[in-house]
Amino acid sequence: MKVAVIGLDGMSWALLAKFFEHDAMPFLNNLLQNAITGVLESTIPPMTAPAWTSIATGVNPGKHGIFDFVVLKHNRIASSLDVHYPRIHEMVALKGKKSICINQPLTYPITKLEGATVISDWLSPKLAYYPKDLEKHYSLRCFAPKRSFPSSLSAMQRNLQVKKNAVITLMNRIDWNLFWIICGETDFIFHKYWIEAMSGKRRIVDILNLIDAIINEAREIADAVFIVSDHGFKRYESTVNINSFLRRAGLVRESSRRKVTELHDFLPGDTQGIREVKLPSRFHRWIQDKPLLKSTVKRIYKFFSRRDLTAECPYPDPELSDAYMPSHSSFGVFLNNKDLAKRILDEMRDLEYLDTVWKRDEVYQGPHVDLAPHIIFKPKFDAGYIPAGTRMTPSIISRGAVFDHHPAGIVAIYANHLTPKNLGIKKTFDITPTILRMLGLPRPIDSDGHPIPEIASHYNTKSHKSFDYSQKWALFQKINLFKKNLVKKVEE
Ligand SMILES: [Zn+2]
Repeated sequence: MKVAVIGLDGMSWALLAKFFEHDAMPFLNNLLQNAITGVLESTIPPMTAPAWTSIATGVNPGKHGIFDFVVLKHNRIASSLDVHYPRIHEMVALKGKKSICINQPLTYPITKLEGATVISDWLSPKLAYYPKDLEKHYSLRCFAPKRSFPSSLSAMQRNLQVKKNAVITLMNRIDWNLFWIICGETDFIFHKYWIEAMSGKRRIVDILNLIDAIINEAREIADAVFIVSDHGFKRYESTVNINSFLRRAGLVRESSRRKVTELHDFLPGDTQGIREVKLPSRFHRWIQDKPLLKSTVKRIYKFFSRRDLTAECPYPDPELSDAYMPSHSSFGVFLNNKDLAKRILDEMRDLEYLDTVWKRDEVYQGPHVDLAPHIIFKPKFDAGYIPAGTRMTPSIISRGAVFDHHPAGIVAIYANHLTPKNLGIKKTFDITPTILRMLGLPRPIDSDGHPIPEIASHYNTKSHKSFDYSQKWALFQKINLFKKNLVKKVEE
């Protein structure tokens, strides 16, 4: 049995419909007409790192420990060492089957398991892969993290062309039961080139068609193909600045230590908050959507003053504030003064642009809940609200178009004998138990999801046993660490 999973980061059904209108991704379009489909509800927050980690583990962030790209409490980029639960490519290897995993967020440093071929992701400090001899046979430079942030669409297209060929070669030459690849290009395009994507710009269609070629190859080789996204994407008309709200409530101590480039790509309305503006704010607003002019102004300023155009901005001080939102992507508030929890919860629940406000243990369960912000909120996405960044602005609400994540992702499952059907809404946690069932492997003992019944009924294994993957995985991690330390000692 071979299951291929192609992750389309940030894809929604509405976006796909738009792309099909522009004749993009014909293979995917055809596959979907014969697939079981549904909406995949993202994690809270609907962000790439927690969502893909929940998809790949089958558990909520309280169990796997990933709530954001950063470890919010310590304000550093997360790594695989912060992921406290085995992911499906590791589970498959732990049970003696074979997997290939490419660009799953937070794979660096790689947990080395026999049977699991891994190429690290765009969040890695550098390209890493396992097993070591992989580079001998394949050119892997196209997977380097710095290539995930190309300077232009044409650079992205050039790299993806090489990547597509490498992926298809890997898919054909290495034996696998699970093939898992996350295509991050889509998320990048939606953030940066939304208007161009909506209008079916030729180069974007060409990029999507390279991903489509990978999907087509997967359909040729695999017994079942999953198309999955970690969250959707949407155009929003307003940003909600939670730190500004907290400041107004008298809970924030300002810190101006952080500097930003004055002509940085702020969210609309954000520029009002800048202090020590060296340029008139009206000029600021006017120049925001003129990238070429903006970079010219920056360069001219630097040429004459030999300094970057910077401004001091008001941020909440994480130590001295009673409460603060730690990152744009956290959808949460940390409390330094716990006595204020009830008051803040009540006041946030009164905000008309927030849909729901929870205490963290109402959203997350598991041993790592204490890493999450104390209060978690969900904005009224469908009324056009999305959280602003952490920098405070005079007003809480800023108007102006922003393109950002939405909780409704996609899931589609194609296999020869499955009849097309609509599944309604499924959870991120359901993907891993479903794939394990298809591969004839036991489900994890403490999974938060369930095999999707419409699929699982076709893959009735005699045993419905569960297995403690975590325990076995933790043992391998210890061995890995021991070996690494041993090598270090020998080298010393
Ligand atoms: Zn994403």
